[in-house]
Order: sequence, then structure tokens, then C-alpha cells
Amino acid sequence: MNLSRRTVLAATGALAAGIPPAKLRTTPPAVAIRPGDRRYENLLRGNNFRFAGRPDEIRVATNADQVVGAVSDAVRGDKRIAVRSGGHCFENLTAGPDVRMLLDLGPMNGVGYDERRRAFFVEPGATLGEVYRALFKGWGVTVPGGGCPGVGAGGHIVGGGYGPLSRRYGSVVDHLHGVEVVVADRDGRARRVVATREPDDPNRDLWWAHTGGGGGNFGVVTRYWLRSENMESELPPSPQNMLQHVLFWSWEQLTETSFTGLLRNFGAWHERHSAPGSAYQGVYGILQPSHRSGGTVMLVVQADADLPGIAGRMSEFIVAVTAGTGLTPVFEQRDTLSWLHRMTWPGSGEAGDVVTRRYKIKAGYLTRGYTEAQLATIYRHLTNDSGGPQAGMLLIGYGGQVGAVRAPATAIAQRDAVMKVVYQTVWANEADDAASLAWVREFYRDVYATSGGVPPDGSYINYADADLADPAWNTSGIPAQRLYHGDNYPRLRRIKATWDPRGVFRHALSIE
Ligand SMILES: Cc1cc2nc3c(=O)[nH]c(=O)nc-3n(C[C@H](O)[C@H](O)[C@H](O)COP(=O)(O)OP(=O)(O)OC[C@H]3O[C@@H](n4cnc5c(N)ncnc54)[C@H](O)[C@@H]3O)c2cc1C
Repeated sequence: MNLSRRTVLAATGALAAGIPPAKLRTTPPAVAIRPGDRRYENLLRGNNFRFAGRPDEIRVATNADQVVGAVSDAVRGDKRIAVRSGGHCFENLTAGPDVRMLLDLGPMNGVGYDERRRAFFVEPGATLGEVYRALFKGWGVTVPGGGCPGVGAGGHIVGGGYGPLSRRYGSVVDHLHGVEVVVADRDGRARRVVATREPDDPNRDLWWAHTGGGGGNFGVVTRYWLRSENMESELPPSPQNMLQHVLFWSWEQLTETSFTGLLRNFGAWHERHSAPGSAYQGVYGILQPSHRSGGTVMLVVQADADLPGIAGRMSEFIVAVTAGTGLTPVFEQRDTLSWLHRMTWPGSGEAGDVVTRRYKIKAGYLTRGYTEAQLATIYRHLTNDSGGPQAGMLLIGYGGQVGAVRAPATAIAQRDAVMKVVYQTVWANEADDAASLAWVREFYRDVYATSGGVPPDGSYINYADADLADPAWNTSGIPAQRLYHGDNYPRLRRIKATWDPRGVFRHALSIE
């Protein structure tokens, strides 16, 4: 037998580790966890403790072959399958009572550079914190993704993905080169498909569906490839430091006039300064009023600290937001934080804390500021007697470079939005579910009273809210999928019909 030096070394290493060499060539089976296993209850819940299904099996996969095996098993056994990567879904899309196999991709968390495709690869189980850290340490680059390091790339990217750098660099999917997806054919066979944005790629439609179409629709993403087009570097350069300015106002000092003044100013500034190429596109602001029982209204502004003139622009933004309100912050601080520290600090951006893990979040896009009637409604609900200290809302700056991409170019339909808004409430105990849900649902319904209880500018699929599919809360006559995908919805339906002909991948808000 003619053994190469490499084979001998590999075999020696394998034997030393107690593994027979032949085993190196086979894929180990995925871990299957069933009721009664001490791991089962631990793995049932994602980030929002309101949701725990009762699947026959939680399948923990470590590679794409195991995902093919899991999808095959689910289709052959006629078991409803749901896939979970980072578990940060707002809504019950992976833990419904009909889900029989929960596919957990947490261990598939590699991030690196693929020489062959000249693109960075990200596996779905990588958290955003892991993505930022690996891209920064290895190459000094980044993606304009979310500010919560615990969110999983798996759901985040396919839903669009945005964050502190989006006004400057667009959405994450504006840098998506390709995807590897495990799909289920009409005959039930599961297989891996690679789809890229290359114009001559026969699977290009499948790539397009992953640029904002939302998770759990077309198959299981086992790998993303990221590479920018039309940029000097393959991905945006990481900032070195982030400049962060935080201000708090106390509800004790706020009147309806000064409170609504802050929101009106925030909206007007974004209407003026959100065109692509704006001198202010480096400024990312979040205005976060708590319910009055929470005590404060917070404004957080972030930017790449090395952008020329950014400190002055940030100050101008703060002056514009507070203009005419007569308010003095009870706390104010400006810091320069290292990029990695700012973006990977554990727990930042999370809803609640270790105990308080139940939440309901509703959302919308805004192409302009609120009307006067909406501002009055917001004030009324944030000062009523039924909201709790962990209830409130976030107005989030958007636009800028996001608007440089035409709506049909990716699956993100709302390219003209200048803000996103989140209405949320967080609580600890199941006994408080009904009251907490009622507060945020009624708040939302009343803000959008003139448009059937839903936002006229649509909403973001990564801020999933099953109420939009419930005629009790959406009286607009516009289906949830239209609110999420706008004019891109018909194309998403055609792609769904081609790539998921058996309807294997589905949930309360999935593409029909
Ligand atoms: C605290 C918090 C902060 C957030 N901050 C931001 C933010 O700053 N910016 C932003 O854009 N979004 C943000 N989000 C929203 C977040 O992007 C979405 O909730 C995202 O879908 C979560 O992905 P996940 O993999 O963690 O979740 P999961 O619960 O695992 O999955 C979410 C959905 O995607 C599907 N899915 C997951 N993995 C795959 C896969 N591999 N293939 C196909 N489908 C898959 C699931 O089936 C499910 O339908 C935040 C969410 C939370 C809870």
C-alpha cells in the first residue's frame, strides 16, 4: 500500500484522538433531542419566553449535510419542520403547536473568507456579535447589521438586516453575494442549492428571495456569502471607534407639548436629511420614550468617530431634535467607544433581562413624520394607567444609503422609508400576558386608526407581528404579506412556488 505522508499523519492524529481513520470521511449524525431528554426543555424556547412548542424532536445540526438529512426526514415523515438559528424571532414562527421537528442551527456558526467565491461566508448560527468580531479581527471589515449582538445571522440576513451603519452602507442584503439553501423538491427530495446575484446564475431568483423575503419561507439557509458591489473594499471597512451621545429627559419635566415636540422634530430631521448621499447619513439616532411609569425619554446617537466633521453634525442633530421644546436633559454623556466594544457588548439591545423574558413588539416603517393626531395618540398611550415601566417605543433613523437601491432590486420593498418604529412591552410573568398584550395592541391600533390599525408605509419582516394577519387587529383589508413585502410580494410568491412547491417551509406570516 502506498501511503502519502499526509495520510499517515492524519491517521496517526485520528488514532491518537481515539477515532478510527475511516470515520473521518463520514458525516456524524445530527443530535436528536426528544421529550424526556434533560436538554429538551432548555432548547424549546428562543429569546422570547412566551413561545415554547412541543416538537417530537429538536434536531441540532452542525453542517449542511445534516440539514439535508433533517429536511429529508421531516418531509418523508410528513412532519412540520421549523428552523431556528439565533432564536431572536419576535413572533411565534418556530414554536407553533403544529411544529414536529425544530431544527436548531446554533452550532453552525463559522465566519471566514471563501477564496473560491472571493466572498466572506457566514453560517446561520453565527450571532451578529460573532460576525462583527470575526470580520473585524480577520480583515477589518464589517456589514451594516443590527446592534444586538445576540441576534442570529440565519434569520437576520434573509429578513434584510439593518443597524447603526445602514444610513451609510445600506442593508446587510445590499452586500449579499449568494446563499446556500437546503430546499425540498416536489418529489420530497432535499438538496443543497447555491444561488448568487450573478446575472447569469439560473438560481438568481432564489438569491433575490433571500434579500429581504424573510426566514422560514424557501428552505434552510446553510451559508451566506457577503461581498459588496461597487465598493473599493470587498465589504465596508469597520469603523475603528464609535462616537456615542446619550441624553435622558425625565417624564416629570415633560408636557404634551414638549414631548410631542421631540417626536415631531425627530421626524422632520429625518425627512430633511435621509436622501442617499446626505451629509448627515453617518448620523444614526434612536429616540426611545418609555411609558411614563418608566420615567424617561432617551435619545442615543451613534456614528463612526472618524468621519470628518461628525462630532459637529451629531451636535446639530441633537439641537434639531430638541429645538423649541425648552427641555434640559437630566443626564447627558458623549463617549468614544471602540467598534468591537460597542457592537459586541453582551446584552446590549436585548429586550428585557435574565428574568424578564416575555415581550410583544409591533413595528412599522415611516416615510415621513407622524401626523398631529398620531402624536396626540402616542402621548395618550404613553401616559395612560395601563402601560408598565418596560413599555414604550423606539423611533429609529433609517434611509440614507438604503434609499440608493431601487425597491425591485432586492426583496426589501420599502426603500423610501426614513425611519422605522417599534412599539414594545416587556414583562416577566405569564399572568401579565393579557394586560401587556392589550396595552401594546391598543396603542398600535390607535396610532394607525385612519389606516385600518396597520402602518400605511408597511412593516419590516424581521419585526414579525402575527397580529398583522389577524382581522381583529388588521382591519385595513391589506394582507400581512403585502404590508411586509409591498409590490415585491407577487415575485416572492412565484419564487416560493418554484422552490418550495410542497409548502414545506411555512409559518403565520410566510409567503403564500
Ligand atoms: C433583541 C432584538 C434586537 C434586534 N435588533 C435588530 C436590529 O438592530 N436590526 C435588525 O435588522 N433586526 C433586529 N432584530 C430582529 C432580528 O433581525 C430578527 O428577529 C431575526 O429574524 C432574528 O434571527 P434569528 O436567527 O436570531 O432568529 P430565529 O428565531 O432563529 O429565526 C427567525 C426567523 O427566521 C427563520 N430562520 C432562522 N434561521 C434560518 C435559516 N437558516 N434559514 C431559513 N430561515 C431561517 C426562522 O424560521 C424564523 O422564521 C432584533 C431582534 C431582537 C429580539
